Amino acid sequence: MQTTIKSQVTFTGVGLHSGRPVRMTIHPASAEYGIWFRRSDLDGDNLIPARWDAVVPSKLCTLIANRSGASVSTIEHVMAALAGCGVTNALVEVDGPEVPILDGSAQPFVKGILARGLRELAVPVRALRILKPVEVRNGQAWARLEPADMLEIDFTIDFVEPAIGRQEKALNMSNGAFVRELCDSRTFCRQDDVERMQANGLALGGTYENAVVFDDDKVLSPGGLRHEDEAVRHKMLDALGDLALAGAPILGKYTSQRGGHALTNKLLRALFADPFAYRLVDVAEGITGGKLPGVGVRRTDVPVLA
Ligand SMILES: [Zn+2]
Repeated sequence: MQTTIKSQVTFTGVGLHSGRPVRMTIHPASAEYGIWFRRSDLDGDNLIPARWDAVVPSKLCTLIANRSGASVSTIEHVMAALAGCGVTNALVEVDGPEVPILDGSAQPFVKGILARGLRELAVPVRALRILKPVEVRNGQAWARLEPADMLEIDFTIDFVEPAIGRQEKALNMSNGAFVRELCDSRTFCRQDDVERMQANGLALGGTYENAVVFDDDKVLSPGGLRHEDEAVRHKMLDALGDLALAGAPILGKYTSQRGGHALTNKLLRALFADPFAYRLVDVAEGITGGKLPGVGVRRTDVPVLA
Protein backbone atom coordinates (compact mmCIF):
# COMPACT_ATOMS: atom_id res chain seq x y z
CA MET A 1 0.00 0.00 0.00
CA GLN A 2 1.02 3.63 -0.44
CA THR A 3 2.57 5.09 2.69
CA THR A 4 3.38 8.37 4.30
CA ILE A 5 5.27 9.41 7.42
CA LYS A 6 3.15 9.27 10.60
CA SER A 7 4.08 12.77 11.74
CA GLN A 8 6.36 15.53 10.59
CA VAL A 9 10.10 15.43 11.20
CA THR A 10 12.55 18.35 11.02
CA PHE A 11 16.25 18.38 10.13
CA THR A 12 18.56 21.35 10.56
CA GLY A 13 22.03 21.71 9.10
CA VAL A 14 23.95 23.61 6.47
CA GLY A 15 23.67 23.54 2.71
CA LEU A 16 26.67 21.91 1.04
CA HIS A 17 27.05 24.62 -1.56
CA SER A 18 25.99 27.78 0.28
CA GLY A 19 27.37 26.77 3.68
CA ARG A 20 24.31 28.52 5.13
CA PRO A 21 21.93 27.14 7.77
CA VAL A 22 18.85 25.42 6.43
CA ARG A 23 15.82 23.84 8.07
CA MET A 24 13.88 21.05 6.38
CA THR A 25 10.63 19.42 7.52
CA ILE A 26 9.09 16.29 6.01
CA HIS A 27 5.30 16.42 6.37
CA PRO A 28 2.78 13.57 5.95
CA ALA A 29 0.69 13.63 2.76
CA SER A 30 -2.38 11.82 1.47
CA ALA A 31 -2.51 8.98 -1.04
CA GLU A 32 -1.69 9.90 -4.67
CA TYR A 33 0.08 13.09 -3.55
CA GLY A 34 3.55 11.86 -4.47
CA ILE A 35 6.65 13.70 -3.27
CA TRP A 36 6.76 17.50 -3.51
CA PHE A 37 9.17 20.11 -2.19
CA ARG A 38 8.05 23.53 -0.93
CA ARG A 39 10.32 26.56 -0.53
CA SER A 40 8.81 28.11 2.62
CA ASP A 41 11.05 31.19 2.26
CA LEU A 42 9.45 32.11 -1.08
CA ASP A 43 6.01 33.60 -1.65
CA GLY A 44 3.76 32.60 -4.53
CA ASP A 45 4.38 29.48 -6.58
CA ASN A 46 6.80 27.72 -4.24
CA LEU A 47 5.82 24.06 -4.81
CA ILE A 48 8.26 21.96 -6.84
CA PRO A 49 7.45 18.42 -7.97
CA ALA A 50 10.07 15.76 -7.18
CA ARG A 51 9.93 14.51 -10.74
CA TRP A 52 12.39 13.76 -13.52
CA ASP A 53 10.96 16.48 -15.76
CA ALA A 54 11.57 19.16 -13.11
CA VAL A 55 15.32 18.42 -13.01
CA VAL A 56 17.55 21.26 -14.15
CA PRO A 57 21.07 20.34 -15.34
CA SER A 58 23.54 20.75 -12.49
CA LYS A 59 27.02 19.30 -12.23
CA LEU A 60 27.31 18.60 -8.55
CA CYS A 61 23.91 17.46 -7.36
CA THR A 62 20.29 16.98 -8.36
CA LEU A 63 18.42 20.26 -8.64
CA ILE A 64 14.71 20.63 -9.38
CA ALA A 65 12.77 23.76 -10.29
CA ASN A 66 9.17 24.69 -11.05
CA ARG A 67 7.90 26.87 -13.89
CA SER A 68 8.18 30.01 -11.76
CA GLY A 69 11.85 29.36 -11.13
CA ALA A 70 11.56 28.24 -7.50
CA SER A 71 14.24 25.59 -7.04
CA VAL A 72 15.81 23.28 -4.50
CA SER A 73 19.12 21.49 -4.88
CA THR A 74 20.89 18.46 -3.43
CA ILE A 75 17.61 16.57 -3.09
CA GLU A 76 19.08 13.16 -3.92
CA HIS A 77 19.91 11.92 -0.41
CA VAL A 78 16.51 12.72 1.12
CA MET A 79 14.84 11.28 -2.00
CA ALA A 80 16.86 8.08 -1.51
CA ALA A 81 15.82 7.98 2.16
CA LEU A 82 12.12 8.36 1.29
CA ALA A 83 12.35 5.74 -1.47
CA GLY A 84 14.47 3.39 0.62
CA CYS A 85 11.96 3.56 3.47
CA GLY A 86 9.04 3.05 1.10
CA VAL A 87 7.50 6.51 1.66
CA THR A 88 5.40 7.24 -1.42
CA ASN A 89 3.71 10.47 -0.30
CA ALA A 90 5.29 13.42 1.51
CA LEU A 91 5.73 17.18 1.40
CA VAL A 92 9.32 18.28 2.02
CA GLU A 93 9.46 21.89 3.17
CA VAL A 94 12.82 23.71 2.99
CA ASP A 95 13.51 27.30 4.06
CA GLY A 96 16.32 27.84 1.57
CA PRO A 97 17.65 26.76 -1.84
CA GLU A 98 19.14 23.44 -0.76
CA VAL A 99 18.54 20.44 1.45
CA PRO A 100 20.83 20.22 4.52
CA ILE A 101 23.82 18.01 3.79
CA LEU A 102 24.05 16.66 7.38
CA ASP A 103 26.73 13.94 7.36
CA GLY A 104 26.77 13.56 3.56
CA SER A 105 24.80 10.30 3.67
CA ALA A 106 21.08 9.48 3.91
CA GLN A 107 21.30 7.89 7.35
CA PRO A 108 20.08 10.90 9.38
CA PHE A 109 17.03 11.21 7.12
CA VAL A 110 16.31 7.49 7.38
CA LYS A 111 16.66 7.57 11.16
CA GLY A 112 14.32 10.55 11.43
CA ILE A 113 11.71 9.04 9.11
CA LEU A 114 11.75 5.67 10.85
CA ALA A 115 11.62 7.26 14.28
CA ARG A 116 8.28 8.80 13.28
CA GLY A 117 7.11 5.59 11.64
CA LEU A 118 5.13 4.99 8.47
CA ARG A 119 1.40 5.05 7.96
CA GLU A 120 -0.22 2.85 5.34
CA LEU A 121 -2.79 4.52 3.11
CA ALA A 122 -5.63 2.47 1.67
CA VAL A 123 -4.49 2.85 -1.91
CA PRO A 124 -2.23 0.45 -3.83
CA VAL A 125 1.28 1.56 -4.79
CA ARG A 126 1.56 2.30 -8.49
CA ALA A 127 4.88 0.97 -9.71
CA LEU A 128 6.73 1.48 -12.96
CA ARG A 129 7.42 -1.83 -14.66
CA ILE A 130 10.27 -1.71 -17.18
CA LEU A 131 9.25 -3.58 -20.36
CA LYS A 132 12.40 -3.35 -22.46
CA PRO A 133 16.01 -2.19 -22.11
CA VAL A 134 16.69 1.55 -22.31
CA GLU A 135 20.28 2.78 -22.30
CA VAL A 136 22.01 6.15 -22.42
CA ARG A 137 25.69 7.02 -22.73
CA ASN A 138 28.00 9.94 -22.20
CA GLY A 139 31.55 9.14 -23.29
CA GLN A 140 32.75 6.19 -21.20
CA ALA A 141 29.81 6.48 -18.83
CA TRP A 142 26.58 4.60 -19.41
CA ALA A 143 23.38 3.72 -17.60
CA ARG A 144 20.67 1.20 -18.43
CA LEU A 145 17.25 0.09 -17.23
CA GLU A 146 15.97 -3.35 -18.18
CA PRO A 147 13.11 -5.62 -17.15
CA ALA A 148 13.31 -7.33 -13.74
CA ASP A 149 10.78 -8.32 -11.10
CA MET A 150 12.14 -5.93 -8.49
CA LEU A 151 14.50 -3.01 -8.32
CA GLU A 152 18.14 -3.99 -8.54
CA ILE A 153 20.99 -1.52 -8.72
CA ASP A 154 24.35 -2.57 -10.16
CA PHE A 155 27.01 0.12 -10.15
CA THR A 156 30.66 0.28 -11.19
CA ILE A 157 33.04 3.16 -10.62
CA ASP A 158 36.63 3.38 -11.80
CA PHE A 159 38.90 6.06 -10.42
CA VAL A 160 42.63 6.37 -11.07
CA GLU A 161 43.18 7.40 -7.44
CA PRO A 162 44.21 4.33 -5.44
CA ALA A 163 42.08 5.41 -2.46
CA ILE A 164 39.00 4.55 -4.57
CA GLY A 165 40.07 2.57 -7.64
CA ARG A 166 37.55 0.24 -9.27
CA GLN A 167 34.54 -0.79 -7.22
CA GLU A 168 31.46 -2.73 -8.26
CA LYS A 169 28.41 -3.63 -6.22
CA ALA A 170 25.00 -5.04 -7.07
CA LEU A 171 22.10 -5.09 -4.66
CA ASN A 172 18.45 -6.04 -4.72
CA MET A 173 16.64 -3.11 -3.12
CA SER A 174 13.71 -5.06 -1.66
CA ASN A 175 13.24 -5.71 2.04
CA GLY A 176 15.06 -2.71 3.37
CA ALA A 177 18.40 -3.48 1.71
CA PHE A 178 18.92 0.23 1.17
CA VAL A 179 18.56 0.95 4.87
CA ARG A 180 20.85 -1.90 5.89
CA GLU A 181 23.57 -1.56 3.30
CA LEU A 182 23.61 1.82 1.60
CA CYS A 183 22.06 4.64 3.58
CA ASP A 184 25.10 5.44 5.72
CA SER A 185 27.56 5.78 2.83
CA ARG A 186 28.71 9.37 2.41
CA THR A 187 29.37 11.51 -0.59
CA PHE A 188 33.02 11.67 -1.59
CA CYS A 189 35.36 13.94 -3.47
CA ARG A 190 39.00 14.62 -4.19
CA GLN A 191 40.89 17.22 -2.16
CA ASP A 192 41.85 18.98 -5.45
CA ASP A 193 38.18 19.23 -6.42
CA VAL A 194 37.24 20.69 -3.03
CA GLU A 195 39.88 23.40 -3.41
CA ARG A 196 38.79 24.17 -6.97
CA MET A 197 35.07 24.25 -6.07
CA GLN A 198 35.60 26.47 -3.04
CA ALA A 199 37.74 28.87 -5.11
CA ASN A 200 34.67 29.15 -7.38
CA GLY A 201 32.27 29.76 -4.50
CA LEU A 202 30.90 26.19 -4.51
CA ALA A 203 30.77 23.53 -1.79
CA LEU A 204 31.30 26.27 0.79
CA GLY A 205 29.61 24.06 3.38
CA GLY A 206 31.84 21.08 2.54
CA THR A 207 33.92 19.76 5.43
CA TYR A 208 35.64 16.54 6.41
CA GLU A 209 32.52 15.92 8.52
CA ASN A 210 30.05 15.79 5.63
CA ALA A 211 32.06 14.18 2.84
CA VAL A 212 34.76 11.57 2.45
CA VAL A 213 37.68 13.59 1.10
CA PHE A 214 40.52 11.64 -0.46
CA ASP A 215 43.87 12.55 -1.92
CA ASP A 216 45.63 9.99 -4.10
CA ASP A 217 45.91 6.95 -1.82
CA LYS A 218 44.83 8.65 1.41
CA VAL A 219 41.43 9.23 3.00
CA LEU A 220 41.68 12.63 4.72
CA SER A 221 38.38 12.52 6.62
CA PRO A 222 38.89 11.60 10.27
CA GLY A 223 37.76 8.09 11.14
CA GLY A 224 38.31 6.89 7.57
CA LEU A 225 35.69 4.95 5.64
CA ARG A 226 32.43 3.48 6.93
CA HIS A 227 32.71 0.69 4.36
CA GLU A 228 35.70 -0.39 2.29
CA ASP A 229 33.58 0.26 -0.80
CA GLU A 230 31.76 3.31 0.60
CA ALA A 231 32.22 5.23 -2.66
CA VAL A 232 30.30 2.82 -4.87
CA ARG A 233 27.67 2.38 -2.15
CA HIS A 234 27.14 6.13 -2.17
CA LYS A 235 26.78 6.11 -5.96
CA MET A 236 24.04 3.48 -5.52
CA LEU A 237 22.38 5.67 -2.89
CA ASP A 238 22.45 8.60 -5.33
CA ALA A 239 21.05 6.35 -8.07
CA LEU A 240 18.12 5.29 -5.87
CA GLY A 241 17.36 8.94 -5.05
CA ASP A 242 17.57 10.00 -8.68
CA LEU A 243 15.48 7.02 -9.86
CA ALA A 244 12.82 7.98 -7.31
CA LEU A 245 12.21 11.02 -9.51
CA ALA A 246 10.41 8.61 -11.85
CA GLY A 247 7.48 9.34 -9.53
CA ALA A 248 6.85 5.66 -8.77
CA PRO A 249 8.95 2.75 -7.52
CA ILE A 250 10.68 1.02 -10.42
CA LEU A 251 10.33 -2.70 -11.09
CA GLY A 252 13.46 -3.21 -13.16
CA LYS A 253 17.22 -3.46 -13.08
CA TYR A 254 19.40 -0.36 -13.20
CA THR A 255 23.02 -0.78 -14.23
CA SER A 256 25.60 1.96 -14.59
CA GLN A 257 29.30 2.33 -15.12
CA ARG A 258 30.79 5.68 -14.17
CA GLY A 259 27.31 7.23 -14.15
CA GLY A 260 25.99 10.08 -12.06
CA HIS A 261 23.05 12.39 -11.48
CA ALA A 262 22.89 13.81 -15.02
CA LEU A 263 23.09 10.41 -16.69
CA THR A 264 20.37 8.90 -14.48
CA ASN A 265 18.10 11.81 -15.38
CA LYS A 266 18.92 11.35 -19.06
CA LEU A 267 17.97 7.69 -18.64
CA LEU A 268 14.58 8.57 -17.13
CA ARG A 269 13.95 11.03 -19.96
CA ALA A 270 14.77 8.29 -22.50
CA LEU A 271 12.48 5.87 -20.66
CA PHE A 272 9.51 8.23 -20.62
CA ALA A 273 10.10 9.16 -24.26
CA ASP A 274 9.31 5.56 -25.26
CA PRO A 275 5.75 4.51 -24.33
CA PHE A 276 6.63 0.88 -25.11
CA ALA A 277 9.45 0.83 -22.56
CA TYR A 278 7.35 0.91 -19.39
CA ARG A 279 3.93 0.34 -17.89
CA LEU A 280 2.38 1.61 -14.66
CA VAL A 281 1.04 -1.28 -12.59
CA ASP A 282 -1.00 -1.27 -9.40
CA VAL A 283 0.71 -3.31 -6.74
CA ALA A 284 -2.25 -4.70 -4.82
CA GLU A 285 -0.30 -5.58 -1.72
CA GLY A 286 3.35 -5.15 -1.03
CA ILE A 287 4.43 -2.85 1.70
CA THR A 288 3.88 -4.95 4.75
CA GLY A 289 3.37 -3.99 8.34
CA GLY A 290 5.58 -1.04 9.12
CA LYS A 291 8.76 -2.83 8.06
CA LEU A 292 11.32 -1.36 5.72
CA PRO A 293 10.54 -2.82 2.37
CA GLY A 294 12.53 -0.41 0.30
CA VAL A 295 11.54 0.46 -3.20
CA GLY A 296 11.39 -2.94 -4.82
CA VAL A 297 8.39 -5.12 -4.17
CA ARG A 298 8.97 -8.86 -4.41
CA ARG A 299 6.71 -10.67 -6.76
CA THR A 300 6.10 -13.31 -4.07
CA ASP A 301 4.74 -10.53 -1.86
CA VAL A 302 2.51 -9.31 -4.60
CA PRO A 303 0.56 -12.13 -6.25
CA VAL A 304 -1.63 -9.87 -8.36
CA LEU A 305 -0.05 -7.37 -10.75
CA ALA A 306 -2.49 -5.49 -12.88
ZN1 LIG B 1 25.28 11.91 -3.17
